[in-house]
Amino acid sequence: MKKLLLLPAFLFFGCKKSSEGAAASGPIDERSTGRAAAALLSADTYTSLQVEVSYMPGYAPDAAALSQLHAFLQARLNKPGNISISTRAVPAATGTVLSVSDLSAIESAQRTGHSSGSTATIHILYTNGSYTEPGVLGVAYRGTSLALFGKKIHDNSGGLGQASRTKLEATVLEHEIGHLLGLVDIGSPMQTPHKDPGGLAHCNNSGCLMYY
Ligand SMILES: [Zn+2]
Ligand SMILES: [Zn+2]
Repeated sequence: MKKLLLLPAFLFFGCKKSSEGAAASGPIDERSTGRAAAALLSADTYTSLQVEVSYMPGYAPDAAALSQLHAFLQARLNKPGNISISTRAVPAATGTVLSVSDLSAIESAQRTGHSSGSTATIHILYTNGSYTEPGVLGVAYRGTSLALFGKKIHDNSGGLGQASRTKLEATVLEHEIGHLLGLVDIGSPMQTPHKDPGGLAHCNNSGCLMYY
């Protein structure tokens, strides 16, 4: 399990990938992380993708980071319908430390879009809290679910010697979506071998998005 990540260009961030109690088949929203990859990547079942971003007070997404995410998805997914991203404000979490089950409960209460018909959905929760392990900036925890820890991202970006907020937020978003898309080797076969033998679904190439 990976907690702290050191990226090139002074980017310091963390990732957790968790799939507690989730399935490998059935509705893609209920699957474990990486097991919805084929459905998200191809147009076989879902020809469109809706990304729903729910954010807590003070942690509205960076608009430029979301447009980078949109371009990232457009370039990689086969969705001839369309790929859209919507944002909405949700109430603050009462706890300041959030576990996967807390994130799951908040998601159940707030998520409005569920994958059905020809539209797949991904839910991204921007929280005001931090993860149960310090240093974690994002977590992918189910087939179409991930969360970002807004305060950690704000604290680690935009300052002297830090990455810009847009750069850090877009990198964390793309990295966590990478897990939903089956990287590294958790649902999509590797095109070139790059899985870090010591890491869980992370990469050994420091230039790679999935490096930690
Ligand atoms: Zn990761
Ligand atoms: Zn890699």
